Amino acid sequence: MTSESQVRADDRAHVFHSWSAQGLIDPLPVEKALGSHFWDYSGRKYLDFSSQLVNINIGHQHPRLIAAIQEQAAKLATIAPAFANDKRGEAARMIAEIAPADLNKVFFTNGGAEANENAIRMARLHTGRHKVLSTYRSYHGSTATAITATGDPRRWPNEPVAIGVVHFWGPYPYRSPFHSESPEQETQRALQHLRDTIVFEGPATVAAILLETVVGTNGILVPPPGYLAGVREICDEFGIVFIADEVMAGFGRCGEWFAIDRWGVAPDLITFAKGVNSGYLPLGGVVISDEIAETFRERPFPGGLTYSGHPLACASAVASMQIFKEEGIVEHARALGDDIIGPSLHKIAEKHPSVGEVRGLGVFWAVELVRDRTTREPLVPFNAAGPAAAPMNAVAAACKERGLWPFVHFNRLHVVPPCTISAEELREGLAILDEALTVADEYSA
Ligand code: PLP
Repeated sequence: MTSESQVRADDRAHVFHSWSAQGLIDPLPVEKALGSHFWDYSGRKYLDFSSQLVNINIGHQHPRLIAAIQEQAAKLATIAPAFANDKRGEAARMIAEIAPADLNKVFFTNGGAEANENAIRMARLHTGRHKVLSTYRSYHGSTATAITATGDPRRWPNEPVAIGVVHFWGPYPYRSPFHSESPEQETQRALQHLRDTIVFEGPATVAAILLETVVGTNGILVPPPGYLAGVREICDEFGIVFIADEVMAGFGRCGEWFAIDRWGVAPDLITFAKGVNSGYLPLGGVVISDEIAETFRERPFPGGLTYSGHPLACASAVASMQIFKEEGIVEHARALGDDIIGPSLHKIAEKHPSVGEVRGLGVFWAVELVRDRTTREPLVPFNAAGPAAAPMNAVAAACKERGLWPFVHFNRLHVVPPCTISAEELREGLAILDEALTVADEYSA
């Protein structure tokens, strides 16, 4: 077996890491993982309160999911997208069955960014318009509409895509961009702001509104009552495609199959990845309404990927959805949020002056840390890095020392364990978080 020092040496010498200044990082070598835990090479065990990148919804190394991948690998490891394949078809059918309304077809990708790229492409070609409206405080993936850089005819139908992203403010009652004093007011003002943005951009230029149903990395921002229904109405009024990005919020994370089910709203396109198979293999996709699919009945869809609908990835999605159903994982996630995480975090908030707000649902919660509860000044500034981020780094270190692997973003800790975490493990993790927050309190008034 490779030694820890070899793993570290290979990594430092040859692996170029995402989002990082390569000389300033020291990635922890991980040896193994199981359920809600992973272990480093010294045998140190961490309770994974991050689900890695909020994707291991089913937990680490679920034996039945591993077995399904092994079985498929032995049978047919890969086949090109142009063929029909049993697991690809079954995965698409199962996803269509859980999707709302008439979202009946699935275009598979390797992950979330490609799902959003293709959803935008579909919306643009369906409407013949080019602008995409998305919110500040959102993340939709890190590809840059790569097709515009392509030098062959596959570029031609995609040429308008390099332009036209317009940002607007979504609702965020705790730091209302609209100076609202209640969630109802926030909904009403956020919808008016969206409408004004569309009117001033020119409704005939707007192809899509792309929204995270519940904003993930940028704060677990749960939409206030009526917001998503209002967005649906605005989209219908102006002929705009509503794309719900459920890459992080979907597949159990919010205690629903799709988070949007919580609000009974049907978008035109849903993008997914992460929880669909917990990232055991790379997989994402777009769930497509009948109306948008019809646009591409006679006209070819100008997009594709060598690994679209990869049999191994699709077999893992089928197995994962079956396990979710048989083990009641969606219901479990909802109950954990309602019965344990929500009540515990509210108690924690009362004890710690550094906690400004806790919010969330299912196994998707944020603890927002502040220097001062009255002014709501964040514990670290927006986009803080280096010494400015020291208070958050200290809280994260306090968690890790106690065996809890946290998810930290700006001035927030996110409580995002696997949907399969047990009540006991969850309580243990929350107790560690409670202790670690005393470190944050030292920076707070
Ligand atoms: N959309 C959302 C809401 C996400 O959280 C992410 C990743 O974190 C993405 C899209 C991009 O997904 P991927 O990293 O699989 O490309």
